Amino acid sequence: MEEVESLLELIKKDYANDYRRIWSLDDRTIAVLMYERLGVIGGYSFTVMTIVDYSIEDRFCEIQVRYVGGNLSFLGTGKSEDFIKEITSSIETLAKEKLWKFQVEKVKIRNAGTPCPNCKKAYRYPKEKIREDGTVECQNCGKPFILQDNL
Ligand SMILES: [Zn+2]
Repeated sequence: MEEVESLLELIKKDYANDYRRIWSLDDRTIAVLMYERLGVIGGYSFTVMTIVDYSIEDRFCEIQVRYVGGNLSFLGTGKSEDFIKEITSSIETLAKEKLWKFQVEKVKIRNAGTPCPNCKKAYRYPKEKIREDGTVECQNCGKPFILQDNL
């Protein structure tokens, strides 16, 4: 129990400025923590969600860190990836300190849509919206672009 507390304190301190909800049951702790960043200068935003699932009985803790959305401008590109790297390495440092077994796995998460090369807003485009030449009209700025993969 104390072990998961130190992990949650770490995430709460620097990586959960927007929303935190922690459920502690008899032998299990589940936490959902959200971090939202608004880059005023770069005009970007992103939200990263961290889910902690800790089982006392199994002495096992699974931590999921995932990008859930955002509006990336040129300056914002890579910011959420940097953030995810940062949180992962902070958790790794803590794990080493506490002598926890720690392992990082990359999980491929389905894309939330295809970003427009012009305005960077990502949408999913249904088949009927794709023209014969393979282009679609961006739902946000209206400019056409070639849809590379719509998955
Ligand atoms: Zn667009």
